[in-house]
Amino acid sequence: MDSPLLLPIARVQPENAQAKTLYFDHALHSQPGQFVMAWLPGIDQKPFSVAYDNGREFGFTVFPVGPLSQALVSLQPGDRVGITGPYGHPFSVKKDRHYITIGGGYGAGPLALLAERAAAAGAQVDFCLGAKTEGLLLFAQRVKTVPNLRVHIATDDGSLGRRGYVTEILEELLLETGAQTRLIAACGPELMEKKVLDLCNEHDVECEISLERYTKCGFGVCGQCCVDPLGIRMCVEGPVVDRETANRISEFGAYHRDKSGTKIRY
Ligand SMILES: Cc1cc2nc3c(=O)[nH]c(=O)nc-3n(C[C@H](O)[C@H](O)[C@H](O)COP(=O)(O)OP(=O)(O)OC[C@H]3O[C@@H](n4cnc5c(N)ncnc54)[C@H](O)[C@@H]3O)c2cc1C
Repeated sequence: MDSPLLLPIARVQPENAQAKTLYFDHALHSQPGQFVMAWLPGIDQKPFSVAYDNGREFGFTVFPVGPLSQALVSLQPGDRVGITGPYGHPFSVKKDRHYITIGGGYGAGPLALLAERAAAAGAQVDFCLGAKTEGLLLFAQRVKTVPNLRVHIATDDGSLGRRGYVTEILEELLLETGAQTRLIAACGPELMEKKVLDLCNEHDVECEISLERYTKCGFGVCGQCCVDPLGIRMCVEGPVVDRETANRISEFGAYHRDKSGTKIRY
């Protein structure tokens, strides 16, 4: 097992009405779609996707929903977090491709990092972002400085961008752009991701999807995050899987397991 590095928080950046990004002065050497395990002694240890990594500093973005995430967003610069990683199979970064990224919730973090790296490699990016309301959008401003990138926004209440689901934007873009170079990358709520997979199957387009499962160890020994019927570990062979693998995971969009292994249906 990797020993956690007890890293001091360098800065805390509020991102929207709920989420904050914790930054650390540490060369993590991560790839987009990978995650770190964040540990607060006496509370818990859980995975968080790397949302920013410039080679000298990295950050992850936390939405407060329970004990660990609420404790993380209450931390201040100088407080320490136990970090292991980076772990997991990342998104591909390919030049000469047309990326269409589809993000919701904290999924916008790894996709913003992907967009930055892919654009730097020469790719064109359509960055599609969805949220319930404008105040919950993440990284819409950050990616506006990325070259060769268009931002598309959908909110459930119509407070910014299109009123409706972000997958409706993908449907339109798939009709608009017919080139063979398209690569769809998705990270967000699972039912959103399932819709993305269905559309990619319908249009026969390559895609990569970050499929998250309850993760305990993060490096493949405990088996908690294995998926049916393949038995592959989402912390090692995932979280990012390609279209063929996603199609073979029968529980994708149907159910996941909680920490005791009990199936929870969507
Ligand atoms: C690969 C991977 C990457 C992840 N990356 C991030 C990330 O970048 N940022 C982040 O904030 N979280 C991320 N998570 C989720 C994170 O690991 C924790 O599960 C989450 O922070 C909740 O932990 P908790 O102990 O605070 O609350 P818990 O006690 O686990 O959850 C409290 C309640 O909130 C619900 N809940 C759990 N997660 C969510 C959620 N995301 N949205 C809404 N309700 C939820 C639970 O079902 C439960 O009812 C990731 C998970 C995985 C597997």
